[in-house]
Parts: sequence; structure tokens; C-alpha cells
Amino acid sequence: MPKNNNKSKKPKISIGGITAKTTLANKTGAWRSKRPEVTDKCAGCGVCVEYCPEGCIAIQAVKGKRKAVIDYTYCKGCMICASVCPIKAVIEKQEK
Ligand code: SF4
Ligand code: SF4
Repeated sequence: MPKNNNKSKKPKISIGGITAKTTLANKTGAWRSKRPEVTDKCAGCGVCVEYCPEGCIAIQAVKGKRKAVIDYTYCKGCMICASVCPIKAVIEKQEK
């Protein structure tokens, strides 16, 4: 067996393993070309929260009503939230 001379300090990640940091350590909002906007139709059901790959949607009380609120620092504009919303409460805008 050849000796492993790789002195890299990078952590070894096994297949199916996870990194110690999530994308919350990277500001993925800089990738965005499409901007999801949650309309007043939102019923606060939380489906989009479950599916957002960046974990950047939270259900919050807005004017006394539960509503999805997006953290645009990490929203990368994939629009999955819009596609999974059962009542089409998320609309797509172009990022300026
Ligand atoms: S899935 Fe739609 S209705 Fe449900 S919280 Fe998200 S935006 Fe609101
Ligand atoms: S577009 Fe929607 S699902 Fe995609 S990262 Fe942004 S908030 Fe999450």
C-alpha cells in the first residue's frame, strides 16, 4: 500500500458525509438572478421552509399573521419555494 503523503489540512469527507459548515457560512444571496417575493396570500403553512435548500425562510408574525419571510442574504434565487407553495403565494421577480 503506497504511503499517503497528502499533508493537506482539509477535512476528509466520506461519501454521503457532511461538511462542518452549512451554506449559512457563505452568503449565497450573491448568486441570485431571480428574486422570490412572498405575497399577502401566504398562509404561513411552512411548506416552503421545509424545501428551501438554503434554510433561509422563516415563518414569522407579520402584522399579526403568520407569513414566510425570506433572508435575502442567503436566498440564491432557485425558486423552489415558489414551485412548492400550494397556493402560489410566492412570485418571481428579476433581481435588479
Ligand atoms: S408554502 Fe406558500 S403559503 Fe406556505 S408558508 Fe410558504 S409561501 Fe406561505
Ligand atoms: S428561491 Fe426560495 S427556495 Fe430558493 S433559496 Fe431563495 S428562498 Fe430558498
